Amino acid sequence: MSAADGIPLSRVLVVGAGLAGARTVIELRRQGYTGWVGLIGAESIPPYDRPPLSKHLLDRPAPAWLADELATDALDLADQVLLGTAATGLELTADQVRVSTDAAGELTADAVVLATGSTPMNPWPTARVLHTADDAAALRADLAPGRRLAIIGAGWIGAEIAGVAAAAGVEVTVLEALAGPLPVLGAVGDLTRRWWESAGVDLRTGVRVSSVDDRGVWLADGAHVPADLVVAAVGARPASDWLTGALTRDPDGSIRVDAQLQPLNGSPRVRVVGDLARRRSARHGWVSGGHWDAALRGPAVAVAGLLGAPVPEDPAPYVFSTQFGHELALYGEPGRTDDVLLREADDGWTALWFAPGTERLSAVFTVDRPRDVAAARRLFAAEQVPALDRALVTDPSTPLRAALRG
Ligand SMILES: Cc1cc2nc3c(=O)[nH]c(=O)nc-3n(C[C@H](O)[C@H](O)[C@H](O)COP(=O)(O)OP(=O)(O)OC[C@H]3O[C@@H](n4cnc5c(N)ncnc54)[C@H](O)[C@@H]3O)c2cc1C
Repeated sequence: MSAADGIPLSRVLVVGAGLAGARTVIELRRQGYTGWVGLIGAESIPPYDRPPLSKHLLDRPAPAWLADELATDALDLADQVLLGTAATGLELTADQVRVSTDAAGELTADAVVLATGSTPMNPWPTARVLHTADDAAALRADLAPGRRLAIIGAGWIGAEIAGVAAAAGVEVTVLEALAGPLPVLGAVGDLTRRWWESAGVDLRTGVRVSSVDDRGVWLADGAHVPADLVVAAVGARPASDWLTGALTRDPDGSIRVDAQLQPLNGSPRVRVVGDLARRRSARHGWVSGGHWDAALRGPAVAVAGLLGAPVPEDPAPYVFSTQFGHELALYGEPGRTDDVLLREADDGWTALWFAPGTERLSAVFTVDRPRDVAAARRLFAAEQVPALDRALVTDPSTPLRAALRG
């Protein structure tokens, strides 16, 4: 079997056995590749889904196995599966890739798909994080009504943990350095503040954490926030340290890839998928990983490129979340200087970001508005960034599609 660049392809190694890794194995088989596939994963359990870890932190003790969620077991499709094994280095030669591991020596292949995801950031050794099934189990064991939980960071994951913990009677304080919750949404994030307040969460914004100890959190202004447990929810960093020297990385650890998910100026034998990749999108510019949808869809693109097949669509960045009983969806990338318009209805609301002074839509954020979610998905599926009539979009009874220009 030959790949796009005429590379004979009889051995493909997938490194990282999370969503992007499992999907890569499945796509290799779905797209007709019959050669050898190897899958290496640092965690010792089969691939599972991360979003339920926070959304169902307290009511779903078992991991959501990807074999069930994807209705296909990637482990059955691979010829060699090494779980509990971390890749420690990558070497690229003219005719091979070599991956060294901590527990299984060196593996060679014709091509490698890198899917090692991300590692949560945690500047405070006493704080915990929520990233793995083990983290979730440990938190679940220690959270109980009346216990005091401090969460550092009011982003997507901080908000989800705060919501489920408060609903279970945990006393929750959330400390956010920026001006409001969901800071990626700018001022729009602050529209969610009332949910936190009505759930009884003590949300403190514009506060700086200086240290964490077993009594709680100390703030830069000297204040102390007493807590039995502290969770750091301050973002994640692409897990690419093991690739030092083999591939060029951005300062945040991401690997820049083209529309085929091949590293820029990198070997045609390499593809990068999921949280590790910062991809070039014709519509949205540079798109960072870090969200589920990219890990789900990217592998189809990576595999098509490797096999020399036509590369599928350029999906819009998409994030979903469930917070305080609300269903949230964000399509596109909000620009910091964009104009923002609101579309408010009785059942929910939608915010729309436009490039300053234009009708060019950059992002859509919906709360409890499934019709607007479906419309946003379709609008961003077009080749060009959509242009919408700004006067029409604020009327929630007008379908978003009806506001489309041209
Ligand atoms: C609690 C939580 C909730 C989330 N909720 C949402 C949500 O609601 N919406 C959304 O859009 N996104 C959400 N995300 C993000 C989403 O889950 C990730 O974007 C997605 O899992 C990325 O998939 P991935 O395969 O790239 O990485 P991962 O899922 O992180 O998988 C990477 C795997 O590679 C392994 N690995 C790492 N280094 C090595 C190595 N050197 N060798 C071998 N294996 C290695 C890791 O152990 C891991 O198993 C959430 C994430 C978390 C943690």
